[in-house]
Amino acid sequence: QAQASYDAQDLWQKDKNHFIHPFTDFSLFHEKGCDLITNSDGIYVEDVHGNRFIDGIAGLWCVNVGHGRAEIGQAMAEQATRMAYFSTFNNLSNAPATELAAKLAELAPAHLNHVFYSCGGSTANDATIRLVHYYFNRLGKPSKKRILSRTNAYHGTTYMAASLTGIASNNWQFDTLDLVTHLSEANCYRRPEGMSKAEYCDHLVDELEQTIERLGADNIAAFIAEPIMGAGGVLVAPQGYHSRVQAICRANDILFIADEVVTGFGRLGHFFASEAVFETQPDIINVAKGLSSGYAPLGATLISDALYEVLSTPQGPGGVLSTGFTYSGHPVSCAAALKNIEIIEREGICENVLEVGPYLESQLKTLASHETVGDVRGSHFMMAIENVANKTTKELLPVDARVGDRVAAEAQKRGLIIRPVGHLNIISPPLIWTRQVVDEVVAILND
Ligand code: PLP
Repeated sequence: QAQASYDAQDLWQKDKNHFIHPFTDFSLFHEKGCDLITNSDGIYVEDVHGNRFIDGIAGLWCVNVGHGRAEIGQAMAEQATRMAYFSTFNNLSNAPATELAAKLAELAPAHLNHVFYSCGGSTANDATIRLVHYYFNRLGKPSKKRILSRTNAYHGTTYMAASLTGIASNNWQFDTLDLVTHLSEANCYRRPEGMSKAEYCDHLVDELEQTIERLGADNIAAFIAEPIMGAGGVLVAPQGYHSRVQAICRANDILFIADEVVTGFGRLGHFFASEAVFETQPDIINVAKGLSSGYAPLGATLISDALYEVLSTPQGPGGVLSTGFTYSGHPVSCAAALKNIEIIEREGICENVLEVGPYLESQLKTLASHETVGDVRGSHFMMAIENVANKTTKELLPVDARVGDRVAAEAQKRGLIIRPVGHLNIISPPLIWTRQVVDEVVAILND
């Protein structure tokens, strides 16, 4: 099919005049405006001028099955023409939302069998905190309100999700809600000098215990964590951290929420990393991104049987579970997700990640021989490079050196898009990269 061509200059100008981009540095935006990405296929994206790039970030950690999947487009088109939208409030439902809920229950850890839909990761986290508060209110424990999160966590940017987020620069000049206490992130690279990883794990667990003692378990509703912290720097916690945290939470009647918005749907080689990789059984798992591989906006909160029992207790005359979105269980998004999951299963995409992931890790780690590469870390298809001024002291380059931006710009000139986050560069590719692609990418990064 012939593709419509775009008027690059006209679009660039309209964008500059009218589009407020999320997470955009206005000094750069005013200087050079936007880069328009207009086409995509498999592991590649193309800009408006016809330049082709390897997509090293899966759009934004989300295009897990890769670009240009016509069968997802067809599933969406069929659903949109058959029944594009109708409410799911009250007892109304639609076929894709129902099928997807059952599929998620089948794929998730055995005790998570109930799905609350939202529009993406932020709204999934936001809705979750409302449901958690509702749960404790209904149990007659209304003082359990505070949420434990971690510095450098990223949970999104609705007001509640931004308050859970612990990346200070993300909330610069924005306000947050006083409902969250941030514990230290698990940052093995920058752990205190002379501490082994096992001691560091003890140290973090001690901090959690002390925090619970200080705040009082009666005032704490939940602990939320990404299994591997993503936007905060792809931080892999020391062995045993998550399961120890979960045990402490359970002992204190604190719900354990896993934010698997990035780690879910194959990025670490499993549909859900919590149980398969981190040996935890969260009370709640939140997903988005890879759930629909970014073909349509969708988020979901997977809820345990025990929680559901309380949430689904009849409220009494006139009462409803009054939370949800117009687009909760959107049929077109759910149709995209069902087809996406079918592809992941049919093509063995998790298996590809388990096979190619360790190769990607080992090849990226060869970059550590460079003078400015302080750390290369992550797991499978979720990796980061930490750029430093001095590898011994781990001192950072000055912020105005814009090292992450410059590395990303040089990679882009050579046909590869990676993501700059401050002094870091993140690599979170579509899950269909092969060893050959890894070699090509590592050659560019070496250069
Ligand atoms: N949670 C995590 C772990 C994320 O990485 C993100 C986005 O990057 C979100 C939540 C927010 O998701 P969304 O941008 O879809 O609202």
